[in-house]
Amino acid sequence: MKLKTNGGRGRLRNLSIGVGFVFLVCWPISGALASDMEPNSGSPLVHHYFSKGAHKHDAEWGYTGTQGPEFWGTLSPKYHLAKDGNQQSPIDIQTKKAIAESLPPLKFNYRKEPISAINNGHSIQHNEQPGSFLHVGDHRYSLEQYHVHVPSEHTIDGKHADMEIHFVHKSSSGKVAVVAVMAYADSKEPVDVPVYKELPKQVGESIVINQATRNPVDFIPKDHSYLRYMGSFTTPPCTEGIRWIMMKTPISITPAVLAKVKEIVGGNNRPVQKLNDRQVFVTSATHKTH
Ligand SMILES: [Zn+2]
Repeated sequence: MKLKTNGGRGRLRNLSIGVGFVFLVCWPISGALASDMEPNSGSPLVHHYFSKGAHKHDAEWGYTGTQGPEFWGTLSPKYHLAKDGNQQSPIDIQTKKAIAESLPPLKFNYRKEPISAINNGHSIQHNEQPGSFLHVGDHRYSLEQYHVHVPSEHTIDGKHADMEIHFVHKSSSGKVAVVAVMAYADSKEPVDVPVYKELPKQVGESIVINQATRNPVDFIPKDHSYLRYMGSFTTPPCTEGIRWIMMKTPISITPAVLAKVKEIVGGNNRPVQKLNDRQVFVTSATHKTH
């Protein structure tokens, strides 16, 4: 693994790129999962999203050719849900069909951290240090990592966003909640956070900037209205039982940031899956503030 460090705060200040990479990133760190519990296979916690170091997949997979999404279900018996599951993600969110409900409010208690990113071959990922939490009503989840897909995996009324950020959380009892934020490249009000001008381009490469910090909550829209549904991880083994929290309001990123991310991980979106008999709920009241 190649490690790059950059101590130049000044350099960072000059980068007014908005969101970037960085959010994708931060490798490892907590190690909490591996050390504090040994999940059974079949548990959503058995997933590369929770590995803090090199992760060996049961079978190599990708987004094109014979390792592409249409073949995931046959690449390994452990990936069978990719073809047999009935609660798979992503899905097309049909906003007019979402059922309005009084959903529990979200509270994002994320904390600042050094900027870092790793290219794991499937996305650019940011791994969290312990201490950042999402509260969904009375339930608490710890933020484990976040990563991006370009274009978005979920579609809204049939349309992709330019990018989708997934914040992956787990509860102390092993439940998994993923918050999805859609991002569009425009110049309205791009997210203003320090961004590293280089991203890890090679698989296995990571970047850490200890001198610069960023709070992942900056990528969460201020309007906390959301949709929710039960689905799966969007990457093998496509484990089900995942609580999806889709933020209704997108964020803006600059075209420059989108171009850089796209160059490295563009096309890492699994096609939308059948909704089957699932229902999508939407907040009936608007929740603001972090
Ligand atoms: Zn994802």
